[in-house]
Amino acid sequence: MKLIGHEHAKDLILGFLEKNYDSYSFIFEGKNCIGKKLISLYTARGFLCDKKTGFGCGECNSCRLVNNTIENIYENQDKNPHPNIKVILPQDNKTIKIDQIREAIKFLRLTSEKGKVLIIDEAEKMNVEASNALLKTLEEPPQNSMLILITSNHNKLLPTIVSRCKKIRFKPLTDEDIRQILDLKGFPHTKIEKAVKISDGSLCLPIGIMENEKIYNYSKDLFNLLVLYIEKKEIHSEGIISLSQLIDNLDNESIFNIISILETFFLKKRNIDPIFYENLLKELDKLKTSILKGVKKKLAFEGFYFNLVR
Ligand SMILES: [Zn+2]
Repeated sequence: MKLIGHEHAKDLILGFLEKNYDSYSFIFEGKNCIGKKLISLYTARGFLCDKKTGFGCGECNSCRLVNNTIENIYENQDKNPHPNIKVILPQDNKTIKIDQIREAIKFLRLTSEKGKVLIIDEAEKMNVEASNALLKTLEEPPQNSMLILITSNHNKLLPTIVSRCKKIRFKPLTDEDIRQILDLKGFPHTKIEKAVKISDGSLCLPIGIMENEKIYNYSKDLFNLLVLYIEKKEIHSEGIISLSQLIDNLDNESIFNIISILETFFLKKRNIDPIFYENLLKELDKLKTSILKGVKKKLAFEGFYFNLVR
């Protein structure tokens, strides 16, 4: 798997790896779905590599095992993973609990000639007890260990944790990065250009949407209806009524994807009347609240449109 984009962050990390420190504590911070976890695994590969070259030579026994770990995570393989890497995630997507951290710290402290790596994904989801338990380890890191905390916002971590880590900031992906990544994943060219339009510097939406083109088309239709109003003051009652009817049967996740794509379309559109834009943001908030409260989706979308164009 190739590491695309993030040249600045990669240079910083390689600079640290070259120093051959006895232990490392990193925070990788940046938007979701931009490749922070993949780069953390390559950082682990560099740290554990028998030849200690860059992000790993890729060929020694250790690197081969890390490659297995990467394939298991990204390609749903079931290969023999590197035993010295542990990745922890929030339970049920919600919280990282103290038991998970305790177990992870025990793993990190087991002595091993090869070194140990602990990667904590969505680290901002550690609860207070878990954070405090981790803090103790950061104060006295085990020998020959690497800890990588991945987060979208370091302000959600304890300041005492942040101050003990080297912070690496990841920028959003460029459109060209996104093209390359989706191309490598084998997406057809026509879909890639659509994905770039809704990407907003990350792959969260494109990957979710590529599977379901309907969602993209609904967002585009709604966007076009609003643009007709903005540019020509045309109001299309039948257009919004039939679109709302189609949207009515979708689940909430799809509805929120439609809203996110619509927001991205507007973020990328130039020359919007600031008063309209302000209203749009207000109405989008109202729309989201209505959906969460269980208002009928058809009515929520019609209301959203008519409030904006009246
Ligand atoms: Zn190697």
